[in-house]
Amino acid sequence: MSWHVLGAGSLGSLWATRLFRAGVPVQLILRDAQRLAAYRQAGGLTLVEQGQASLYAIVAGDLNEQAPIERLLLACKAYDAAEAIAAVAHRLTPEAEVILLQNGLGSQDEVAVQLPGRRCLPASSTEGAFRDGDWRVVFAGQGHNWIGDPLDATPPGWLSDLQRSHIPHTWSPDILARLWRKLALNCAINPLTVLHGCRNGELVRHGDQVDALCAELAGLLHGCGQADAARDLHLDVWRVIEATAANYSSMYQDVAAGRRTEISYLLGYACAAAERAALQVPHLKVVHRQLLEHLDRHGLPRY
Ligand code: NAP
Repeated sequence: MSWHVLGAGSLGSLWATRLFRAGVPVQLILRDAQRLAAYRQAGGLTLVEQGQASLYAIVAGDLNEQAPIERLLLACKAYDAAEAIAAVAHRLTPEAEVILLQNGLGSQDEVAVQLPGRRCLPASSTEGAFRDGDWRVVFAGQGHNWIGDPLDATPPGWLSDLQRSHIPHTWSPDILARLWRKLALNCAINPLTVLHGCRNGELVRHGDQVDALCAELAGLLHGCGQADAARDLHLDVWRVIEATAANYSSMYQDVAAGRRTEISYLLGYACAAAERAALQVPHLKVVHRQLLEHLDRHGLPRY
């Protein structure tokens, strides 16, 4: 059974190249005939690891192809997920399984609602990769992947493909708690690094703001039935700030590079969830408003 990887960006390429070189059948789904022609011109995907570049001639098709899909890795940004799945939904077999690599929350439901009866498995990744050219991905940070299914705790058989491909992973029956926790960490750190224009570690100078956001986020997690995800959030936020002190957050990097952010699926999702649960989150709301204004000033989308 072949893996299909939709989105040959940073994470999609990182997964596809590792599956391919382990001999696991995999093919890429690219946006259109033009992107497919450019890919074929490049001769494949290049993975750069510890300065060593290797080219992998992975089979690719585009969204117009009609061959059935049994296992799909959806590897686009959260804001592209719903549209991307709509373009391939008719190709998914009734037993098809879809692994969702999107950060944040919200896109998983936008996808699942289009795939009644199909198994959708959200993943949460701490691996780091970036593109330093078209069809070239740099493996920048070792990490881990947690994969789960909120509706069914039975691990899928294809985890052995990940094992064989040395893709570090853990089957996670509490994947929603993990996604919520990651969202809360992101909301406590990333927006402030954008607003203060600083590295993660410099947030020690804005400790009161971080602490106020942590308190509201812990309350939000409790209010949304995610008490486990709220445990020691505050300590974890400061641990992450210290451990990543020299780094610029992903949101900071997106804004600095003029790239669209995933704000709607991170801070925007948190504020909407608070509204639905009738919870007061004044600090989160202020930071959200300031971040939207910041995006406006930089000509970037608010969603
Ligand atoms: P990325 O490098 O921007 O890659 C996304 C890819 O999806 C692009 O190649 C894009 O194609 C493709 N795409 C979007 N819509 C498509 C469509 N309709 N049909 C075909 N291809 C489509 O993004 P990423 O960094 O891999 O991030 C993916 C997700 O993983 C995000 O939610 C991110 O937050 C999360 N994540 C990333 C990292 C990381 O280190 N990169 C780490 C943890 C989590 P084009 O190139 O043609 O636009």
